[in-house]
Amino acid sequence: MPQISTLRPSTTAETDRQVLRLYALARRVPPIAGILAHPGATGDGVAYASTRIPRALSAARRLLALPGVAEHEETPYAMSFLKAAESQLNAPSTTLLRIAAAAQEAATRADAADDDLRVVVFRDIEERCRYLVEAAVVTPVYGRQGWSTRDHAANDSLQQWAAHWGLVGRGDGSRSALLLSTEQVPTVPAELSRRAAERAAARARCAAGIRCTERTCLAYGAVKVTFLVDSWLCAGCIRAANTRLATEGHVRDIVQPVPGGTPDRARYIVRLYNATGKGSRTVECSNPQRAQFIAETERPFNNTDYTIWIPAEPRS
Ligand SMILES: [Zn+2]
Repeated sequence: MPQISTLRPSTTAETDRQVLRLYALARRVPPIAGILAHPGATGDGVAYASTRIPRALSAARRLLALPGVAEHEETPYAMSFLKAAESQLNAPSTTLLRIAAAAQEAATRADAADDDLRVVVFRDIEERCRYLVEAAVVTPVYGRQGWSTRDHAANDSLQQWAAHWGLVGRGDGSRSALLLSTEQVPTVPAELSRRAAERAAARARCAAGIRCTERTCLAYGAVKVTFLVDSWLCAGCIRAANTRLATEGHVRDIVQPVPGGTPDRARYIVRLYNATGKGSRTVECSNPQRAQFIAETERPFNNTDYTIWIPAEPRS
């Protein structure tokens, strides 16, 4: 004989309604928690999930406190979504995503301040955070089972290292101040110092401007020229090009620096492309030194090559 509810029918209907609300609430949560399982999650995405998940949890707690809701047979299933989201929110990988976002922001600021060591350190922290987040994602298809003992150890030391640099939150959404004075700089691994020194050397080289596009020359301080419109040439290579073109029947001195030079408000578009495969990305710069620096230091592909060009419309 079926058990007879001791609740009045109207109360049962009300409970069902509240359980439906709980269910609807719970179903909205997995895509939000999913943001936190993505190694490429942005700072905005992480902040959004960090606000929305606790909000959903407290709304669920309010519904659970209503008569009959906690005991309802549909409730555990609805709650399983919310519990999974809560675990995701509190997982170490979510902390790593927050650090990654903070490091990315700090690297951009360091880049604007020509602080090569910090650019290298912060980018390295971001990269290692995202790598570990990827390793934390359980993908049954590839047989990944979350972090290994080594990954856990890497997570601990990475979080400590990030804290040294002021990238770790205090739990209230704010961060401790970034280290700014040179006295406080922690000793960095030799590999990072080497990369920072390389970056500084590139910056010094690029102070002379854009490199001549003649592969046998590559002198810095080349200019845009007429006729060979895709080229940037130094004075020597302009002479050589004119000599060669004259023997091919072109008029004398057909290649000249662009009359009036490059406008002050010109935009320099650096296109970085994969020389041996697919893919490219562009970076807009406001001066030739920066353009050449980006061309020499950004390596989005294993075989990155570059071109620098000036679009017709100047900066607004
Ligand atoms: Zn040259």
